[in-house]
Amino acid sequence: MFFYYDPTFILLIPAILFSLYAQTKISGTFQRYSRVASRNGYTASDVARRVLDMNGLNNVRIERVRGNLTDHYDPRHKVLRLSDTVHSSTSIAAVGVAAHEAGHAVQHSTGYVPLFMRNTIAPVASFGSSMSWVLIMAGLLMRWFELIQIGIIFFTAVVLFQLITLPVEFNASKRAIAMLTDSGIITSEEITPAKKVLNAAALTYVAAALTAVMQLLRFVLLSNRRR
Ligand SMILES: [Zn+2]
Repeated sequence: MFFYYDPTFILLIPAILFSLYAQTKISGTFQRYSRVASRNGYTASDVARRVLDMNGLNNVRIERVRGNLTDHYDPRHKVLRLSDTVHSSTSIAAVGVAAHEAGHAVQHSTGYVPLFMRNTIAPVASFGSSMSWVLIMAGLLMRWFELIQIGIIFFTAVVLFQLITLPVEFNASKRAIAMLTDSGIITSEEITPAKKVLNAAALTYVAAALTAVMQLLRFVLLSNRRR
């Protein structure tokens, strides 16, 4: 990323600090509960299968994907992908992640509105995340106000995407805890640790949203100053 010196950079500092905190929190919490086996001994892929079937989602496949914390639900292909570290693990962390991803599959199948909004805005946000920087930097250098404005509009799509991600993520975790509890997959003493893992994961999304909002504010201030 390209930062040149300007005082509005100060706006980003709290967001950067919070992002660092969120990163430390997720890796610490995840590592800790990756070492704690869940009492009932189901693997994450067993859990995902059970929870999906419970919701009538027998058509959703479960696959293994490389990497660490790369777990995700792919709505287009109806595939729930669990990372190497999670897939066959029986840890509280792995079970929590599997249920969370299954929560996204349930959101998708039940037409959960924020998820639909998020998927709709995703292509614009993805285009905007690279284009907005180019437009804004070029606009600032050339003192071309309209170019900055267009860049800001694209960046607003990025901010909206990050904000709409928050209810989607919190809701998937809420569903995960409910499904794990109702099905008896985890015991009542394991609810709090499972929540800790999912809440730590949610912090990284909050950090990303905060960073995007502060960045937008910064762009608006810069554009007004150059006008
Ligand atoms: Zn998620």
